[in-house]
Amino acid sequence: MALSDAITTIRGVGDEQARKFKILGIETVADLIDYYPRRYEDFSVVTDIAKLRPGPVTIAAVVKQAKGHYVRRGMHITEAVVSDKTGSTRITWFNQPYREKSLKPGAEYFISGQYGLNYRRMSITNPSIELVQDFPANTARILAVYRETKGFNSASIRKIIREVLPEVRALPETLPKWIIEDQKLISRAEALEGIHFPKTTQQIEEARRRLGFEEVFALSLASLLNKDELNTEKSLKIPFKQDLAREFVANLPFDLTDSQREVVWRIYQDMERVHPMNRLVEGDVGSGKTVVAAMAALMVGQKKYQSAFMAPTELLARQHASTIHDLMDPLGLSNQVDLLVGSMSEAQKTLARAHIKDGSARFIVGTHALIGEKVDMHKLGLIIIDEQHRFGVDQRKILMSKAGHMPHVLSLTATPIPRSLALTLYGELDISILRDKPPGRSPIITKIVSPNSRASLYQKIDKEIAEGRQMFVVCPLISDSVIVEANSVEKVYEQMSKIDFKHRHVGLLHGKIKSTDKNKVMEDFINKKLDILVSTTVIEVGVDVPNASIMLIEGAERFGLAQLHQLRGRVGRGKEQGYCYLMMSDSSSPGPRLRALESSNDGFKLAELDLELRGPGAIYGTLQHGEIDLRVAKLSDSKLIASARGSAQEFIDKKENLRHYRELFEYVTKLRAVTNLN
Ligand code: ADP
Ligand code: MG
Repeated sequence: MALSDAITTIRGVGDEQARKFKILGIETVADLIDYYPRRYEDFSVVTDIAKLRPGPVTIAAVVKQAKGHYVRRGMHITEAVVSDKTGSTRITWFNQPYREKSLKPGAEYFISGQYGLNYRRMSITNPSIELVQDFPANTARILAVYRETKGFNSASIRKIIREVLPEVRALPETLPKWIIEDQKLISRAEALEGIHFPKTTQQIEEARRRLGFEEVFALSLASLLNKDELNTEKSLKIPFKQDLAREFVANLPFDLTDSQREVVWRIYQDMERVHPMNRLVEGDVGSGKTVVAAMAALMVGQKKYQSAFMAPTELLARQHASTIHDLMDPLGLSNQVDLLVGSMSEAQKTLARAHIKDGSARFIVGTHALIGEKVDMHKLGLIIIDEQHRFGVDQRKILMSKAGHMPHVLSLTATPIPRSLALTLYGELDISILRDKPPGRSPIITKIVSPNSRASLYQKIDKEIAEGRQMFVVCPLISDSVIVEANSVEKVYEQMSKIDFKHRHVGLLHGKIKSTDKNKVMEDFINKKLDILVSTTVIEVGVDVPNASIMLIEGAERFGLAQLHQLRGRVGRGKEQGYCYLMMSDSSSPGPRLRALESSNDGFKLAELDLELRGPGAIYGTLQHGEIDLRVAKLSDSKLIASARGSAQEFIDKKENLRHYRELFEYVTKLRAVTNLN
């Protein structure tokens, strides 16, 4: 059996089970081995029957007799009497009629389950049972508990993993020997067996330390290598022209915040250096990242080089183009702003391409497709990526070969990433944080709403609308299928436009709507022709409609904390008080995440809480669908992180050849492509 084989090659895994495994994201043997437990239940202590106490127990006993019968329609009971040398007790299974026939009288079994009162008699109910002579997977040990799916529980997962234990035991070592020794780590094979079938709690700890170490080590190595590579590139030096910066700032309708000043200044310093800039600017929604980016582009333009401003959606690209147009206008530079997006007419596109080619377009705005577009950006000096979409080493090389030098890179993100996580994930980046927000904004009022209170909420909202405000309504993605998603948002739209708000103008926006129509709807909303915009999360990032002061999020409990916070940032951008209503799907009580959102407006605080509640995968997941997740390492484990990062640095200082470690090489190469934000 090879690790890359489909799991159907494992004994006992048929097509039906393969289908269930697929739901859990498991398709190959390697995926299965990589499927780590979420927690453990300790059934390792074998108790004498005479000493049984209520609770989770394990006994080693012989089955005397087993009988099954129906107590009523649809309710079957199997009862057996089991005994060891100290006494006997009863075990009971509900609705598992096959049990009676499968038990071998006289054979010794491990039996693990809950011991307690059952129909006024003490018994072990619905236990797992396995012959003592087999390698027990589900009894008499510390049991791994996995993320399960309907009709497929941890016991079945454990049994199947047991089948591949020989493969696990034969897994090669991935880390250099000196690291294993210096760090006193157990081998990879031991760690993987230990994570699935631990013998002791100490073994779980050791397995976690080993696997967690490797995660952080590989990530750190990936970013250090990326950084090294970048530092061998010569960049285009962009001299800082103070007069130009002053003139730009003097023409702004507001004063820059201290944070904005500081970040701009850093960027100017970066771009004067010999090596290319690779900076990430983190700033909560509304912290004013666009101006910062525009000022970077301004300096690059002065050197007659181009900046490519890439937004995640066409909608945002259009909005950015008009913002940058307005910002450049007082300096007479607005004719150097060019938009290039798919929905433009061929004639417009041809014109934009011509401007880009002859260099008269200094501020090019588009989506991430700009990279792949057949545009000649030979004068490209700066890439600005809004809302943090990374592109890998390959794309960077394409750009380099076009430009003949490595452009500076500035990434902007509204997803606040706690520093500990940022350092581990993006070690190759310089990070700046826009801490303070532009003055004069009152915090958004956030309220959790149960569907029972929908009518009274609508009354309140309607009063705001009567006063000229506008509302966003965001519906959750309820399925991976675009069709179903469109359905749910359409239902909300129907209900609002035909019934609840039929006297208002209601618009609809979702992924299936044609791009040109989308722009029309968005324009109508911006121009106040619509009072209410019902949409999916397509409006999530960056959209700026200052008059929209109300955000209603349907099925709020389905969203992640970071995402909710980003959505909320769409309102409260103007002078009016902003409101965010978190509508629950039902009247169950809201969890700690929604409560946190209600009580805090601080994106960084919320991100740290999300990190605590759901682990780094959660935050990362909002960025890139969990391409990297630290599944074992805890970011709070600063000792582990420090030693893994230290070892990565040592690996580089020793000039170790990564290619000598095949598995590590492959893993790190993959990570280098995804950690590459630049
Ligand atoms: P984000 O960081 O979310 O991208 P934007 O750049 O879109 O934020 O800025 C949000 C709004 O704040 C814009 O309307 C912008 O003009 C305004 N703004 C930016 N900087 C300042 C400032 N220093 N003072 C006042 N308003 C500002
Ligand atoms: Mg923005």
